Amino acid sequence: MNTLLPAAIVGSLPKPSWLSEPEKLWSPWKLHGDELRQGKLDAQTLAAHDQSRAGLDIISDGEQTRQHFVTTFIEHLGGVDFDRRETVRIRDRYDASVPTVVGAVSREESVFAADAKRLRAETDQPIKWALPGPMTMIDTLFDDHYRSREQLAWEFATILNQEARDLQAAGVDIIQIDEPAFNVFFDELKDWGVAALERATEGLNCETAVHICYGYGIKANTDWKATLGAEWRQYEQSFPLLQQSSIDIVSLESHNSRVPVEVIELLRGKKVMLGAIDVASDTIETPEEVATTLRSALPFVDADKLYASANCGMAPLSRRVARDKMVALADGAELLRAELT
Ligand SMILES: [Zn+2]
Repeated sequence: MNTLLPAAIVGSLPKPSWLSEPEKLWSPWKLHGDELRQGKLDAQTLAAHDQSRAGLDIISDGEQTRQHFVTTFIEHLGGVDFDRRETVRIRDRYDASVPTVVGAVSREESVFAADAKRLRAETDQPIKWALPGPMTMIDTLFDDHYRSREQLAWEFATILNQEARDLQAAGVDIIQIDEPAFNVFFDELKDWGVAALERATEGLNCETAVHICYGYGIKANTDWKATLGAEWRQYEQSFPLLQQSSIDIVSLESHNSRVPVEVIELLRGKKVMLGAIDVASDTIETPEEVATTLRSALPFVDADKLYASANCGMAPLSRRVARDKMVALADGAELLRAELT
């Protein structure tokens, strides 16, 4: 990126009400067959234009073609039975009905390359595509085949690498792997988590990012955050490992969180995508607040390595709130940019 302080959302945006019921995770589609396929792509086009008009520098698909950031990817894989659902505890926090791994997992064809090509055709700006990370994937299904979280994670990492190469070929500039599970399962993080992440992004020429957060702004997550004490130091587990890794960019939660901003120092040398927008609140940040959050990171990251972003995806918000927050993000980055140049 040539722009100083490029601004981008994390990934998801609310969907239009004609496509699925907004402000709800795993909301069912309202269209079917060809209409659904066309509707998803129309929503993706709208999402790209909304981001561009808000003034963002990097454009995402807004995850408009997926029902959920993890399950939609898994839905396209062989070896997973979506009719056989089990209730499991996700991120050690809340129960969800998830599909079951019943055989060897495989990817017959690219899940998102066609959607990414479409997004590429919609904009001349750099585009970013998010995929679920191996640890987050294994934590969002029931495994009745491998019965080993680590083994299944390695299988998914290999599949993710195939998908990432297809996305790169489709013209994606930044491939982001979402690993909220890195803030929860610290033993696995050290044993194989970062290594599996590197397997997923191995051999790519485009930029690579990892997004680690405290989850969507839903009640189960805000309740969990309330138990984490006065200072959230979970990132101290992953950042030293990521600083040594091949990943280019680390996306983290900051604004309205209790994450001590100095943890960013642990990433020194990496690019940092800082969450300057709270996705658990409908209150729209002012550009000054966004600039203040970004400015607070400057002692710990070189300005040319700082990206402006949100704490997490915006899928659970209303479209109006998401749009206004994107404008605040772009305007806040611009304020600080003007100050620095
Ligand atoms: Zn997130």
